[in-house]
Amino acid sequence: MTAARDLGVARRGTDSVFNVSYNSAFPVHLDRVREDTPIAQRAVITHQPEAWPTGQYCRNDHWSWPCDLHRWGRTVLQSAGWPEAAIIALVRRAAAGELPWARS
Ligand SMILES: [Zn+2]
Repeated sequence: MTAARDLGVARRGTDSVFNVSYNSAFPVHLDRVREDTPIAQRAVITHQPEAWPTGQYCRNDHWSWPCDLHRWGRTVLQSAGWPEAAIIALVRRAAAGELPWARS
């Protein structure tokens, strides 16, 4: 079986920032991506880039962006069947103040 950490984080288009092999301390468990989806949403939302003169860094943990937790969250969502457009929409809604974990 393919190791979960070998999942590629595919983002199609001209931006190749996510066209990297995902291999970090945060493995994606394919047998529980549905259960991990809420925390993956939170990871993608909270681990967003911030522009600095030296490049893009995660505004949460200050690692070079995309940081491991952003990649993990994105990979979990993709593995759960989320298209790229849905992930982008999630980030936009969060930026506008709608947070999935705050829904009642
Ligand atoms: Zn981060």
